[in-house]
Amino acid sequence: MKNDPPNIFDPPAAPLPGLLCPACRRLNDQAEAADFSNAKPSPGDLSVCIYCGEFATYTEGLRLKLLTEDDFSRLPHANKLELLHAKKFVFKIRRQKL
Ligand SMILES: [Zn+2]
Repeated sequence: MKNDPPNIFDPPAAPLPGLLCPACRRLNDQAEAADFSNAKPSPGDLSVCIYCGEFATYTEGLRLKLLTEDDFSRLPHANKLELLHAKKFVFKIRRQKL
């Protein structure tokens, strides 16, 4: 359908060097920018695991670090909304794929 969101399981997505989700330990080897711009992750960027929906942030070495409740509470409101929206999107896509 014309207004369907892009399929986040298919390219183009930025390949990652095999990062494990710090929550569920599943391999996250691709990333999609929230604006679907094909931008690659940078340190400090936020992430939502495609498998479990947990929030993480990219470290200086581009590893994933679990976002704690305290970390989340300090985020700007717009970032909180964006993460929650992305988590909802992940769960919607997962339901469609599984
Ligand atoms: Zn996970």
